[in-house]
Amino acid sequence: MDFYTVLSERGIVSVNGVRIPVTLLVARCPYRYIMVVEETPEMIEGRIQHAVIESLLRERGWETEVKLELTLQDPPATIVGKIDAVNHDNHLIVEIKSGKRLYGEYVMQLEIYRWMWYRLHGQVYDGEIWFVRNGRVEYRIRPWLRDPQAMEPIVVSRLRQLLDQLNTPESLCVRNEYCFLCPLYRRCPATRRG
Ligand code: SF4
Repeated sequence: MDFYTVLSERGIVSVNGVRIPVTLLVARCPYRYIMVVEETPEMIEGRIQHAVIESLLRERGWETEVKLELTLQDPPATIVGKIDAVNHDNHLIVEIKSGKRLYGEYVMQLEIYRWMWYRLHGQVYDGEIWFVRNGRVEYRIRPWLRDPQAMEPIVVSRLRQLLDQLNTPESLCVRNEYCFLCPLYRRCPATRRG
């Protein structure tokens, strides 16, 4: 299957334009994000943990699984995302994670959601990352986050780079410390480069 077909099957390109998920914008290796669709056992467990915590939050009046969609003119693309939980009383956006480590991508994801929220609703919300396990919140982190207005040029720059890279799929491969776990490892252009 050629790369363009994969992009259209994932809903990233279509006759209506380009739709870029926030998770793709912040992905450590965008190529893997696009090409690998099957869920790992960790992802399935993460999904279950999300469902449990989000259900508890809904009972307490939080909004969960909040979809965001923001269309830019330059570059022409729509950024789409889904915030795990929003507390409107406390003006707080929460990203739920079921792993144990805080990665830079998680913080960037939160910053982009805050920026989108600001662009769409004109309000600045705080942001936290909650690490969950066994159906409860183990710890909460409130990382230092850039001002939402300062995020716009950063997002636009990253978006432009990503759109360019979609034309040369091998440029989307970014080697990282988890390549050895990647299902594409043996046929990945980056690892074949040595
Ligand atoms: S092996 Fe590494 S660089 Fe190649 S697709 Fe997988 S994660 Fe990306």
